[in-house]
Amino acid sequence: MRINIPQYIEELDASDPLSSFREEFNIPALFHEKPCIYLCGNSLGLQPKKAKDYVQMEMDKWAEMGVEGHVKGKYPWMPYHEFLTEKMSAVVGGNTEEVVVMNSLSVNLHLLMVSFYRPKKEKYKILIEYNPFPSDRYAVESQLKFHGYKPEDAIIELQPEAGSEIVTKRQIEEVFKREGDKIAMTLIGGVNYYSGQYYDIEYITRLAHKHGAIAGFDFAHGAGNVPLQLHDWGVDFAAWCSYKYLNSGPGALSGVFIHNRHAERFDLPRFTGWWGHDKNTRFKMDPKFVPMPGAEGWQLSNPPILPMACMQASLELFDRAGMERIREKSEKMSALCEKLITETDGSRIEIITPSNPSERGSQLSIRVVDADKGLFDRLSKSGVIADWREPDVIRIAPAPLYNTFKEVYQFCEILKNCMHE
Ligand SMILES: *Cc1c(COP(=O)(O)O)cnc(C)c1O
Repeated sequence: MRINIPQYIEELDASDPLSSFREEFNIPALFHEKPCIYLCGNSLGLQPKKAKDYVQMEMDKWAEMGVEGHVKGKYPWMPYHEFLTEKMSAVVGGNTEEVVVMNSLSVNLHLLMVSFYRPKKEKYKILIEYNPFPSDRYAVESQLKFHGYKPEDAIIELQPEAGSEIVTKRQIEEVFKREGDKIAMTLIGGVNYYSGQYYDIEYITRLAHKHGAIAGFDFAHGAGNVPLQLHDWGVDFAAWCSYKYLNSGPGALSGVFIHNRHAERFDLPRFTGWWGHDKNTRFKMDPKFVPMPGAEGWQLSNPPILPMACMQASLELFDRAGMERIREKSEKMSALCEKLITETDGSRIEIITPSNPSERGSQLSIRVVDADKGLFDRLSKSGVIADWREPDVIRIAPAPLYNTFKEVYQFCEILKNCMHE
């Protein structure tokens, strides 16, 4: 299909301060010779070209030095996770003592709940977002059962307004009014994976604290997507994965934030391993565990170097681009896409994602009336890589670091075309 690109779209790309970042990524070709229109960065972000070099560097070092690599070379393995901390902290708005990269996401949610879900007789409920990602629900349910509670009783799930997928502030406030005395903790996906709703994190944190609850969040769809200020907002804890917006590779590691008001809460239960031990005396191999203050004190194992090497390549790009510029372009792309789509066929298309820019990141969840998977298959054949959720929702996520305005325009034209086939 031939698509003529209007002048104003060309101009948007020409004046885009982030346009050169596309060169830093490998763009898959998939079914066509040409690069596909990759709008699936909310599921698996693309590969930074430098990732290979960083991995190769550590493979070479391993080959050449063996165990010596732990303490030698440009990036000694022993403190390798520390090379990621500063840039990762900037992505989520945390201080460096508050952030650590370790494990994968669901594992970290459990480790954090072990410490921060402290149910008391009357105050034991966990508030979760509407329609959470299944892994988060499973993790919460199993923690509740572990403490002897019934999930049906102890989980409060936020509810949207009738006929909508969006939870309003009024509803959040009402839940706290009604159940605040019983809520021990929140575990809310800061950006919902399905609707793309970006919750007001500071507001929820404030409400939780007002009611004596711990404010915990999952930013799997938030980190690298929306500019977060976890420290300033007073969030107690958070975790996120790095293979979605953070482009660190399939199954890549998770980041954790623990507010420094908890840095020395050695009284809290925690599951421990030697990497959480004071690093100055770790290799004395003493039987007594001495935790490090701050987020690093929650580590279990020595850092896995190869996925961390991939992450280095990605975080450098985030560092260079800066979350503010990323957000600015993201808002423009979402707005353009929304405008073009609703102009297309407003009666057959409903965008579930909030249209208020401050309530969404770069994802648009598009419901197409009477659509079936055939529509999605036609999109794929036309070179668009998006994400399909049964029964009728297409999720797309233009990524400011590697997508162009032209691609957003092309996608909308292709969608229009495929809907009429
Ligand atoms: C992607 C995602 C996960 C995946 O968890 P892993 O442990 O990385 O497999 C969990 N929760 C949310 C909200 C997600 O979006």
